[in-house]
Amino acid sequence: MDRGTGAGQGMSGGSLPLRAYPGDLVELACEKCGRRGQYRKRTLVERSGPEIRLLDLLEEIAQCPRARNTYDACGAHFVGLV
Ligand SMILES: [Zn+2]
Repeated sequence: MDRGTGAGQGMSGGSLPLRAYPGDLVELACEKCGRRGQYRKRTLVERSGPEIRLLDLLEEIAQCPRARNTYDACGAHFVGLV
């Protein structure tokens, strides 16, 4: 059972763990940068573990130059969750 991870979960799915992602293919896109990528969930689980939050994973794999830009933040998101 999970402990202490249930708080603040919204519809965006950003706080969901990777293992909760629907489907085998994790797809992310960023309209602002025109980036688009597909990753096998298995590969990501092997690399980062099934409990990594999607929000953290996004930051890790998107590698968007805008990721930490507070003026014009990155628009990267998981396609399957929106
Ligand atoms: Zn971006």
